[in-house]
Amino acid sequence: MRTVIYPGSFDPLTNGHLDVIQRAAKLFDKVIVAVANNERKKPVFSLQERVQLMSEAITHIPHAQVDSLEGLLVDFVEKRGGQAIIRGLRAVSDFEFEFQLALMNRKLNERIETIFMMPKDTYTFLSSSIVKEIVALGGDVSSFVPAHVQAALKVKFSK
Ligand code: ADP
Repeated sequence: MRTVIYPGSFDPLTNGHLDVIQRAAKLFDKVIVAVANNERKKPVFSLQERVQLMSEAITHIPHAQVDSLEGLLVDFVEKRGGQAIIRGLRAVSDFEFEFQLALMNRKLNERIETIFMMPKDTYTFLSSSIVKEIVALGGDVSSFVPAHVQAALKVKFSK
């Protein structure tokens, strides 16, 4: 049984994240999307909301499930019997941070591999922060996030 963990803030999830999950689900028996609290990033959606939105978004993806991530990522991977961590790479700008993170996780646990996946080219410019900015300014994000996420964003930003 090959299990991979896909960690992130997912504040909120985008079609780029879903693209990575779909690709990972073809390679692994189980994909666990681990939603991190990340208070440091001052998320717009609470951890519970982000888990709920993700859960709705992946119901159609076989072998994918969602969980909240607390504590050290490598400990979470061990606890869930995972072999690897998936991270998405959009552009060179992602590389430096992701490289550092992957090597640090390897230092913390030699057994766990980090795998990078590239989304479909149309999603390479997409990020959760850009989506939030567009919604805050009254723009349309229907081609960047699933409908239920768009609805949740509208509610958040109309407050
Ligand atoms: P974090 O706060 O850990 O960066 P994010 O939720 O922003 O979490 O992203 C989680 C992972 O998904 C990261 O590896 C990030 O590079 C990747 N990612 C974000 N947006 C996209 C996208 N549009 N296409 C592919 N991967 C993405």
